[in-house]
Amino acid sequence: MVEDIFFDNLDLNAYIHLTRLFPMKLEKYKFYCPKCDQELDIAGQIHLKTERENGDKGDMYLNTSFGTYSYKHVPDVVFQKSELVKFSCPKCLETIHSKAHPNYALLTMRVENKFDFEILFSRQAGIHKTYIVTEDGVESYGEHASTGL
Ligand SMILES: [Zn+2]
Repeated sequence: MVEDIFFDNLDLNAYIHLTRLFPMKLEKYKFYCPKCDQELDIAGQIHLKTERENGDKGDMYLNTSFGTYSYKHVPDVVFQKSELVKFSCPKCLETIHSKAHPNYALLTMRVENKFDFEILFSRQAGIHKTYIVTEDGVESYGEHASTGL
């Protein structure tokens, strides 16, 4: 079974859906770079390099804990509304943007070391969208999900 899952800020609804698909402990999910396949989550946080529209660089840590869909950014910045953030892998330094959906960043989520999911989350600050694309169609989650990709 192959599914594409689109979400922003590790949305809780996506986790609920995934928990239904895979009723197991969330610690068994690991996140990897789509380019170099190195593990990107450390102690429950996905580490990504960021570059703002103004060229400022930083580090983002997305929380992967169940029930938490927040992130921490170093340095502490307030992103402009709809600002498009560049994301890259801290290991291979390649950008991890989706070719099919350029406004989204791509991660590989591996469940139980067996099942790979493509995770797409919005690169736009303040836009909360969650999509789960299945063979049957698109399931959308998040407060802005109805506006589409
Ligand atoms: Zn990489």
